[in-house]
Amino acid sequence: MGPPGAGKGTQAKRLVEAFGMTHLSSGDIFRAEKASGSARGKKLAEYMDAGALVPDEVVVSMMADAITRANSQAGLMLDGFPRTTAQAQALDKQLVAAKAPLDAVVVITAPSEAIVERITGRRVCSCGQAYHGKFLPPKKAGVCDACGSALSQRADDTEKVVRDRLTAYNRQTEPVIAYYRACGRVRMIEVDGAKAPDAVTADLMRALKGA
Ligand code: AMP
Repeated sequence: MGPPGAGKGTQAKRLVEAFGMTHLSSGDIFRAEKASGSARGKKLAEYMDAGALVPDEVVVSMMADAITRANSQAGLMLDGFPRTTAQAQALDKQLVAAKAPLDAVVVITAPSEAIVERITGRRVCSCGQAYHGKFLPPKKAGVCDACGSALSQRADDTEKVVRDRLTAYNRQTEPVIAYYRACGRVRMIEVDGAKAPDAVTADLMRALKGA
């Protein structure tokens, strides 16, 4: 968990490479549905392009399906989900039924003044790799190090939309962190996302190995 631009996607990708779990990013799942041009994808786009959260019933049903289908022996890394307390409650129910409790909730913090610069400078690849012109540049400008494809900017990575995504985060997602803290059953790990990406990865690896 963490605000937009905290580095959730970048760090999740590195951790699944290290630990072998399956990475389920709600944002990636929704972008794929949007790109398919389906009626559901068009509905998702209305919310995503405005920087608003997709309604809970749509999110819960799509993510429940994705979790069931993933069926990973090595575990799951949920990235971007849950983002509201209603989503967290629905996830709890599904995980209790599957007898597969959460091992840890990872919170990556980021100072709000850094977020706009981080997001507007972000460039992404269709393979899931993300870069930043200043903080995490690719070896060759505009080209993915991992697969050689051209990088692009996400439609919702503009300054105006970022501010709305941040408001949604503060209002709707921050309470989820309090929800997990209050439930007392799950290990909370908090890392400082203001550090350089490699330092954040090192902090996360240390914390997770002790989990
Ligand atoms: P992300 O890639 O995680 O930044 O997500 C991109 C956009 O997808 C968000 O701004 C929301 O519009 C939507 N989205 C992703 N995950 C969720 C979620 N768990 N609940 C509601 N909307 C979501």
